[in-house]
Amino acid sequence: MGNRTLFQFFHWYTPDGGELWSEVAQKASDLASSGITDVWLPPAYKGASGAASVGYDTYDLFDLGEFDQKGSKATKYGDRPAFQAACQALNDNGLRPIHDVVLNHKMGADEKERVVVRRVNADDRTQIEEEEVEALAYTRFTFPARQGKYSEFIWDKQCFSGVDVIEQPDEIGVFKLVNEYGEGQWNDEVDDELGNFDYLMGADVEFRNNAVYEELKYWGRWFAEQVPVGGFRLDAAKHIPAWFFRDWVGHMRDTVGADLFVVAEYWHPDMGTLANYLDLVDKQLMLFDVALHHRFHDASKAGDAFDMRTIFDGSLVSSKPDHAVTMVDNHDTQPLQSLEASVEPWFKPLAYALILLREEGTPCVFYPDLYGAKYEDRKDDGDVQAVEMPAIGSLPKLLQARQRFAYGAQIDLFDDPTVVGFVRQGTGSNPGCIVVMSNGGAGRKTVELGADHAHVVFKDFLGHHEGEVTTDEHGRAEFPASAGSVNVWVRKDIE
Ligand code: CA
Repeated sequence: MGNRTLFQFFHWYTPDGGELWSEVAQKASDLASSGITDVWLPPAYKGASGAASVGYDTYDLFDLGEFDQKGSKATKYGDRPAFQAACQALNDNGLRPIHDVVLNHKMGADEKERVVVRRVNADDRTQIEEEEVEALAYTRFTFPARQGKYSEFIWDKQCFSGVDVIEQPDEIGVFKLVNEYGEGQWNDEVDDELGNFDYLMGADVEFRNNAVYEELKYWGRWFAEQVPVGGFRLDAAKHIPAWFFRDWVGHMRDTVGADLFVVAEYWHPDMGTLANYLDLVDKQLMLFDVALHHRFHDASKAGDAFDMRTIFDGSLVSSKPDHAVTMVDNHDTQPLQSLEASVEPWFKPLAYALILLREEGTPCVFYPDLYGAKYEDRKDDGDVQAVEMPAIGSLPKLLQARQRFAYGAQIDLFDDPTVVGFVRQGTGSNPGCIVVMSNGGAGRKTVELGADHAHVVFKDFLGHHEGEVTTDEHGRAEFPASAGSVNVWVRKDIE
C-alpha cells in the first residue's frame, strides 16, 4: 500500500448535464495508475435546485437520481445507475469512494406548515426575541414522487431548529423555530462565530430530535448498501453539534466499516478551534487544513516577498499531522466562489510538492489542477467574468513522485527566505528524493546524504532542471533549485 492521496472529482462549475458519474467510471483506471487512492465525489442525492444543484442544498437524501423530483430524475451528475456504476468502477480499480454528506440543512420543502418562531439577531444568534410569532414556513418534506420507498420518514417542523424565510408575516431573516426541542435555544457544540453558528441556511436540521438522529443513522447504513463506501466528507461541520458526528461516525464505523476515511469540513483557520473540535469528536475524523490553504494563497500573491520558512506556520498539518487533510484549492476557494482565496497557478507546483511529498498530512488534489477547467460566472459587481484554471503541468509527475519517492525520514532545509526544501531518505523498499523549491531566483541547497550515497548521480524527476548532480565521496552535493519552481531530485539509475 503506497501513500494515500485523495482526489476531489468535481469543482463548483462542473458542467450540468449529468455526465460526471460517467466521467468518473471512465477515468477510474487512469486515476488509479496515476497514484490516486481515494476519490471524493460530490453529493449524490437530490438537491433543491434539481439537476442544476451542485449538491449542497439537500432535498432528499434517499433520491440518488432515481425519482422525478425537483424537475428531473437525474442530478447534475447523472442518474442512480450511473452513480452506482461510477462507485463500482472506483472500487474495481482499488480506489475508495469518499462520499460528500450534507446533513446540516434541507431545502426545497414540499409544503408550508403553520409554525411558531422567534426572531433572531442575525449578527448575534444568541439574541433570540421573547416574542413568539405565528407564521408559515417551508418545513414539511414529504417527497411525493418517492412515495415512501427506502424510508417513510416525513420531515416536519419538529425536525428543524430554524429557518430563514417566513410568510404571513412575510419576512426574511433568521428565525428560531419553537418546537419540542432545545427549549428555544440553538444546538450547542457548534462554532461560536455570530454567537452560535448552528444556523447556516435553509431549514436547519434539529439533531436533538431523536427520530431525526435515528433517521440519519439509518440513512448512512442504507447508503452503504447502495454503493461501495470508502469514507465520507462531512459538510458544514461547524454548524452541526459535535456530539452528533462523534456518534454518527462511530455508528458508521461499527456498521459500515471500521476503516472508513472521514474528513470534516470545519472551515476555520484557528488551530485552537480545530483542536477543541477534534477533542469533542473524540478525534475520530480528519479536518481540512484551512490555514495552510491560506498560507499558499498568501505566498502565491506575495511572490518572492513571502518568507518560505514560514509556509507551515499556524497550519493544522504542523500541529495535528494525523488529522490534517491538506489541499491547495477546492470548490469553495476557486475563483468566483464564496471563500475565494485561490492559489495563483505559478505557485501550485510548489504547493503541491509541499503537500504531496512530505511525511505529514493526507493530501487532496483538486480536479481543475489535474484536468483544467473553464467557466464563467457573475462577480459581486454583476459583471460576467470568464475564468480559466489551467491544468498544472507538473502535477502528474508530482503524483508519481509521491508514490515512488515520498518515503522515509524527513530532513528539513527551511533555512532561507526564498529557497527551501527537504530530503526524504527513503526506506528499504522505496527510494527517497531531495525536494528543493524557490519562490524567487534560482538557488541551491547543500545536502549531506552520507557516505552510502557517495558518487551517485541525481536528476530532476520533474524535468524543470536539465542538469545532473553527482555527490562527492561523502555523499554531499549542491542541488539546484530552479527560479520560481520546484525540483525533485532522484537517483538517475532508478528511472
Ligand atoms: Ca445547524
